[in-house]
Amino acid sequence: MLLLCGTAQMADLIDILVVGAGPAGGNAALAAARHGKHVVLLDEQVKPGGQIWRAKDSSILSAPQTPEGSAGDALRAQITKAQIDHRGSTRIWQIERQSEGWDVHVLRDGQVERLTTKTLVLATGAHEFVQPIPGWTKPGVFGLAGATALFKQNLSPPGQRTIVSGTGPLVFFVASEIRRLGGTVAAVVTPNTRRDWVSKLPALARRVDLALRGALWIAHIMMNRVPIFWGCSVVSVEGVARVEGAEIQKLDANWAPKGETWSIDADSLCLGHGLIPSIEAPQLSGITISYRSDLGGWVPDIGQDGATSVEGVFLCGDGAGIRGATAAELHGTLAGLSAAEHLGARTAKERATLRPRFNRAARFGLAMTALSTPRPGFAMLTKPDTIVCRCESLTQTRISQEVEVGAASSNAVKSGLRAGMGPCGGKYCQTAIARFIALHENRPEAEIPPSAPRPPLRPVPMSALSANFDYDDLPIPKPAPL
Ligand SMILES: Cc1cc2nc3c(=O)[nH]c(=O)nc-3n(C[C@H](O)[C@H](O)[C@H](O)COP(=O)(O)OP(=O)(O)OC[C@H]3O[C@@H](n4cnc5c(N)ncnc54)[C@H](O)[C@@H]3O)c2cc1C
Repeated sequence: MLLLCGTAQMADLIDILVVGAGPAGGNAALAAARHGKHVVLLDEQVKPGGQIWRAKDSSILSAPQTPEGSAGDALRAQITKAQIDHRGSTRIWQIERQSEGWDVHVLRDGQVERLTTKTLVLATGAHEFVQPIPGWTKPGVFGLAGATALFKQNLSPPGQRTIVSGTGPLVFFVASEIRRLGGTVAAVVTPNTRRDWVSKLPALARRVDLALRGALWIAHIMMNRVPIFWGCSVVSVEGVARVEGAEIQKLDANWAPKGETWSIDADSLCLGHGLIPSIEAPQLSGITISYRSDLGGWVPDIGQDGATSVEGVFLCGDGAGIRGATAAELHGTLAGLSAAEHLGARTAKERATLRPRFNRAARFGLAMTALSTPRPGFAMLTKPDTIVCRCESLTQTRISQEVEVGAASSNAVKSGLRAGMGPCGGKYCQTAIARFIALHENRPEAEIPPSAPRPPLRPVPMSALSANFDYDDLPIPKPAPL
């Protein structure tokens, strides 16, 4: 990184740098700090809490508390009490090995900075997957998981009359939150069938508290006569300039659309189809990855308690496989303890005690992941003229032409068409492209590798990378002798 040499500031050597202040990273930082380590906790959000325990905006602090809000407040209070060096609004965009450990390049307040750490704990969570459907880029369409940020941070429903469509338990949480915030839910549409849910009863029985909470969401929706369409999906968004309704269709056992469609009026739509582990930071630090459909797709290879094959790097939470928030908390503590042990602390007993609780929580989380992950036929919801890469406005037809001439991975499509090179860094399109290739070539998704990660992991302005200079000071080489 030649340009950086002039601008990045060096800091003291940190014992343990934790990236991501969600349930996993927050608890990793607390566990390591308890063992006397100098911990720095970074996150691009202003306050700790991650996705599920996102802090309220200051304008709604007096609003009634939710279970997620209380859990987040408790984590934030513990981090403050432990005097952990938390740095919010800080984006990690590059990780490099160096002799003493790791250089982590961050962007904060428009400035780049380089932090050097002996040990890294990566807890970068997950991002949402939305299967592209006709009209999904219209104003008024929200990600299902993304909509929860709106509720938690601003207490606003997505519109006046919303269709909530998606997989797993989140669809019922979002629908019941919209009603609690005064919005109207026009319909709940989910590819899961009642039978899918019944098949998960053994896992649900392990966490009766969480199962009961989910059952209350569904009961609340049914008691208020909101129609629930099981085994169905929204297949296209209606409206000219913005959402005016959506078309719904039944799905077969492989989640391919089948039969007649029908329409429902609405001014907004929440749409989401599971979570994808955010693996770019682990990949940049040299950790190998494998395809694990039970964990949500491509995940970093990890060992016990967050250890990896790369010395001094530990992983935890949804970024290491989608196991849900309760498992992420415990995984974070285990990884924080492992990192502290790597620097001389003795944590084996504490980890052995925690491990069974983590395994139990993970079993529940994995059952929810299985309900949330789309089946292969779902890729058929994307039609030839559907926008797949919204940053570069690329349709499925354009991507399919690239595949026809030999692009066999999302990386190859990226090289040819720039799909995934826009501001979202491929979060929206890369998995959809891989699933399209798998469907098109009749190959398992496990055979379609994800894109190679490239810095910057987050957009970095050129002004932050280039040092202050005067063009007149630039050395101009002498003309070569004739
Ligand atoms: C948008 C969204 C909403 C969700 N809402 C719910 C919900 O309402 N209920 C529920 O049960 N589950 C929800 N989930 C799932 C739930 O968040 C996770 O199971 C749980 O939070 C996992 O904890 P974690 O600490 O592993 O990850 P997260 O909580 O996702 O924390 C990861 C943190 O890493 C930070 N980060 C990532 N990359 C960088 C970077 N390059 N630089 C700086 N910081 C970075 C992120 O800002 C984030 O705060 C949601 C997931 C998503 C993606």
